[in-house]
Amino acid sequence: NEPLLKVEHLKKNFPIRGGVFSKQIGTVKAVDDISFTIHKGETLGLVGESGCGKSTTGRMLLRLLEPSEGKIIFEGNDITKLSNRELRKIRGKMQMIFQDPYASLNPRHTIERILEEPLLVHGVKDKEARQRKVRELLEIVGLNSYHATRYPHQFSGGQRQRIGIARALSLNPKLIIADEPVSALDVSIQAQVLNLMKDLQKNFDLTYLFIAHDLGVVRHISDRVGVMYLGRMVELAESEEVYQNPKHPYTQALLSAVPIADVDYKKERIVLQGDVPSPANPPSGCTFHTRCPLAFEKCAVERPLFKEVEAGHFAACHLHG
Ligand code: SF4
Ligand code: MG
Repeated sequence: NEPLLKVEHLKKNFPIRGGVFSKQIGTVKAVDDISFTIHKGETLGLVGESGCGKSTTGRMLLRLLEPSEGKIIFEGNDITKLSNRELRKIRGKMQMIFQDPYASLNPRHTIERILEEPLLVHGVKDKEARQRKVRELLEIVGLNSYHATRYPHQFSGGQRQRIGIARALSLNPKLIIADEPVSALDVSIQAQVLNLMKDLQKNFDLTYLFIAHDLGVVRHISDRVGVMYLGRMVELAESEEVYQNPKHPYTQALLSAVPIADVDYKKERIVLQGDVPSPANPPSGCTFHTRCPLAFEKCAVERPLFKEVEAGHFAACHLHG
């Protein structure tokens, strides 16, 4: 399968400032050299605890946030090199769905206005054509055209997320970055929104990067899953591989902590010691070594390379390779 997007050695550093003159006193490596590919038509799940850099990665892919280093190759072009004007042309092809649709929908605008706006910005001048498209979008996500004149507060959380999805679809995107799109919803509603996203993917040839904080949510939507820890990708493989045959001790611990239906990988519960260290002051070597139950001497000294440990299965751990 062809890659739609290729990420190479992507990094994001945030300065830490302090003191009276607010001088830079350090750097947070929010994303610390990650590489991966998203194939056309697939869903790549990206999982990790809060602060691991998954949202930062998602935002960089759309250049809502400027990368510090690295390449983002979308349909063959490195988009980190594009000017804002050039970027605008491809913006429609890459869209984002947010965790909190309420925060991303203007409360003073009707749904029609919200859904029309991207069309206007991208030069659909004919009012009737826009209205037609708005009605079509509402139906596509399981709402009705009479919803068009209402305001965001008149909808439930699940309906608002459908509106967020409709907005993301308005410019016929190829890639959708969904940043915890169901985390704020009730479990029963989560399944509906996930099913909707799956149907839309089939009908409109969409490719997804689906960001979540636990492995349970991405299980049935992801073709492959990547796991991040403290700004680094620690494991990446076909979905079933990650759930049945995890290689990285962090993934193993995550899997042991949540019951997931039909997952055979059941070792005893692995309880990680301590909290996630501060990304401003990450541990040396393998940044997981302070909590890893399998850590040995080398782990505190040498950063493990992210490498293919079995066909199509990548992990960054000294126990492998
Ligand atoms: Fe654990 Fe060492 Fe592997 Fe890091 S490299 S995950 S500390 S065993
Ligand atoms: Mg986040």
